[in-house]
Amino acid sequence: MAERTPDLGGLGISGERPLLIVDVDEVLGLFMAAFGRFLETGGYEMRIDRYALFQSIFRPGAAEHLPVDEGKALFADFFRYGAADMEPTPGAAAALARLSPRADIVVLSNAPQPARMARARWLGRHGLDYPLILNNGPKGPLAAALAARTAHPVAFVDDLLSQLDSVQAAAPAVARFQHVADPRLQPLAPTAPERHLRLDDWTDLGCAIGEALFTRPPS
Ligand SMILES: [Mg+2]
Repeated sequence: MAERTPDLGGLGISGERPLLIVDVDEVLGLFMAAFGRFLETGGYEMRIDRYALFQSIFRPGAAEHLPVDEGKALFADFFRYGAADMEPTPGAAAALARLSPRADIVVLSNAPQPARMARARWLGRHGLDYPLILNNGPKGPLAAALAARTAHPVAFVDDLLSQLDSVQAAAPAVARFQHVADPRLQPLAPTAPERHLRLDDWTDLGCAIGEALFTRPPS
């Protein structure tokens, strides 16, 4: 279930400028690298040979991945204890800083609710101190609700094709961009560049977002 749709005013968002909605894990931050380090401290290993998180966690030497339930428990532990160590994606904070004088920015993350404070502190520490919304499940309905609060162009960035498709279905006027931060994941990520522009470099992505937000007429 998604949280109740947040009020843009309550988030400090004007609704009077273009809006960027941006994901955290594998977009603003190098999630897989940090989660991999966290797993190693617990005696597990991450093998990145497909784009499927819970099929990538192994006991050392094991042929079969960890049962998905155990992987999900480790994922929850990571957000409780290990996510503060995540490195920001190179270029992300600078790109958002260039956009922020002319656009409102909202961070939309599917991190578990107990991670809210840690996630907000992480954003602040890395020059990404924008309003944070935690979501659960498909992001399309929330992106549509946010987009409905402004007459100006809206853009959305995520690493997951399913989330980009969700936003396309719920809010087709929102400009969509796929960004996969981890170079090991880039060749494995399902992608559909004919539907959602794929840009894995934040400098290029920032320019493309700027074009979408500042050169399109209000919808
Ligand atoms: Mg993500």
